[in-house]
Amino acid sequence: MTKNVCTQCGYEHVVIHRKYNGQRLCSSCFKKSIEGKVLKTIKKQKLVTKGDKVLVGLSGGKDSVALLKILNILKEKRIIELEAVTIDEGIAGYREEGVRIAKDVAKELGVKHHIVSFADKYNFTIDKIMEAEQKEEHPQHACTYCGVFRRQIFNQMARDVKADKLATGHNLDDETQSILMNYLEGNVNNMVRIGYKTEARDKRFTQKIKPLREIPEKEIGLYVLESGFEVHFDGCPYAHESFRMEIGDFLRETTLKHPTIMYSTLNGFEKIKPAIKKDYMENFTGKPNKTCIKCGEPSSQEICKSCKFLEKIQNKIN
Ligand code: SF4
Ligand code: ZN
Repeated sequence: MTKNVCTQCGYEHVVIHRKYNGQRLCSSCFKKSIEGKVLKTIKKQKLVTKGDKVLVGLSGGKDSVALLKILNILKEKRIIELEAVTIDEGIAGYREEGVRIAKDVAKELGVKHHIVSFADKYNFTIDKIMEAEQKEEHPQHACTYCGVFRRQIFNQMARDVKADKLATGHNLDDETQSILMNYLEGNVNNMVRIGYKTEARDKRFTQKIKPLREIPEKEIGLYVLESGFEVHFDGCPYAHESFRMEIGDFLRETTLKHPTIMYSTLNGFEKIKPAIKKDYMENFTGKPNKTCIKCGEPSSQEICKSCKFLEKIQNKIN
């Protein structure tokens, strides 16, 4: 086979050379291969059942756009119902673009789209919180607040629209980073929760699924571009030099020399996970799920983290 020929169809315009399996693919075969792989993951891991309503967390970034586009194939075949939600945290100069792309993509695919902003729901923005945090001696990081409120919105929205599944765009890079990070930190509690889907701890939480878990980040970007969608590459200005980033750089660099490393990390983890889980769960004395006395949401404490943060923020901002 000559170098620049698609290994599937023989067409001469190759858009990708997959070093991990030797394939060279043209645009059309590449897109089919990504869609086929994701749909196979969904089937094999039983991520959806016929008739499910799936809510997609659509940030407007490449991962969630690819996810919506692929799940739309199942919507068109009338296997699932599909809706999307975009959260606007109020991050000037960054989030507006994501929201615009999310709106366009949902419209183009004919998917019902919800936008929830921190400003409308909580009466503050992440920018506003960070402005107040900067006056503190030890300012909290934006993601600490952002993550808690985003989780709450996703969970409430999934319940409001009666979604059976909440789908997120986590890719192979994200997942291998999580595996390695939690392993190196000795965080078994987090490790046993890494997977294709969450297990229902409480019926007030909608099950989360990750259909893109076996697709490398680079290929998702290419898939979105080859599908004719706009890609929002800018990063959040509050994303910081975290341990996750260090691990991500390490994995990307290692992949250059060892192209299959992310797949072997993921597959190896999937093999040992049942044993870790069994042992861990047998010795697990976790706290039962309670109900927050302030907002009625599920919580492991009397007052949930979101309500605690809300009070703290009101005091800071007012
Ligand atoms: Fe929020 Fe942090 Fe993500 Fe920015 S990087 S959107 S602050 S969680
Ligand atoms: Zn609460």
